[in-house]
Amino acid sequence: MNDYLTAELQQIKRISPSTLMFRFVTQSAGVSFRAGQFYRFTFTDGAGSFERSYSLCNQLNDQDQGYLDLMVSEVDKGRATQVLFNASVGLQVSVRGPYGRLVLPRPLPARTILVATSVGLAPFMPMLSMMAALPPEDTRPLMLILGVRDRSEFLCAQWLLSLRTDLPDFELVVCYSRETATDLQIYERRGYVTAVIAEQEANPGNDFFMLCGNPQMIDDVFLLLKGQGFSGRDVRREKYVFARQEKSSAKPKSLSKSEKDLLADKIKRYIK
Ligand SMILES: Cc1cc2nc3c(=O)[nH]c(=O)nc-3n(C[C@H](O)[C@H](O)[C@H](O)COP(=O)(O)OP(=O)(O)OC[C@H]3O[C@@H](n4cnc5c(N)ncnc54)[C@H](O)[C@@H]3O)c2cc1C
Repeated sequence: MNDYLTAELQQIKRISPSTLMFRFVTQSAGVSFRAGQFYRFTFTDGAGSFERSYSLCNQLNDQDQGYLDLMVSEVDKGRATQVLFNASVGLQVSVRGPYGRLVLPRPLPARTILVATSVGLAPFMPMLSMMAALPPEDTRPLMLILGVRDRSEFLCAQWLLSLRTDLPDFELVVCYSRETATDLQIYERRGYVTAVIAEQEANPGNDFFMLCGNPQMIDDVFLLLKGQGFSGRDVRREKYVFARQEKSSAKPKSLSKSEKDLLADKIKRYIK
């Protein structure tokens, strides 16, 4: 699972003012992952090598494919941003994975509500395309609530709108935090995703939530859902934390000498 693969950048496509899509191809027959999982990418810049995580947004299925599709939003002065947003086709990186538990439960819940902010949409794309490929009798009601800044940042808009006809029982709501247009369509709202969730009257016995993207949005939505009787079992979360936070949450903090001495002293007193 943790073996490194070499991947080469094959395609770059702008999909919004802040977001690019990248396709990396590998030499191996397939890149294994389940819809919703992510890979760790090692990049190199003038200061050395460093790692960042990216969800795979490969469409169609969760079977092995020989490429990794990423949807990446630009972060001001971000280290990976500078490598990726200045990259040319042919860039070589090493990758390892898959990681992550943001995968659809089996059997499918009675209704699944996917909540994303911006590129937090990425892990839901393989899920949505997989569901669209199922025979209608095997699908279950699915809702996507996507939060973006404005219409220009409504990622993969055409495809998501087409799913409203291609995927039975699919409901789409797009929430704009900064859109000023007044001709809002039926699927468009002004405000944050939390307002739409609050209206849903979701039911823990029936509904299953998957949340991805901005950590603050995830904490706010989880708090709201806890108030409606949901527990961690009914809500899967993937926070797009920054690299520093990711490392500190993954690794147990090692104790300094003075912290170790203090702990030893406390243990001694406790044993007495
Ligand atoms: C499991 C997982 C999956 C992820 N999947 C994706 C994905 O599919 N697409 C994607 O675009 N990103 C994704 N991310 C985030 C990604 O890993 C990087 O953190 C992001 O691309 C920024 O990296 P950077 O090196 O450009 O910025 P850094 O050099 O790490 O950060 C530069 C500065 O910007 C701040 N900063 C970093 N990110 C943000 C931000 N989003 N908003 C505001 N300030 C910020 C930092 O605190 C720092 O001060 C994921 C993160 C995790 C943990």
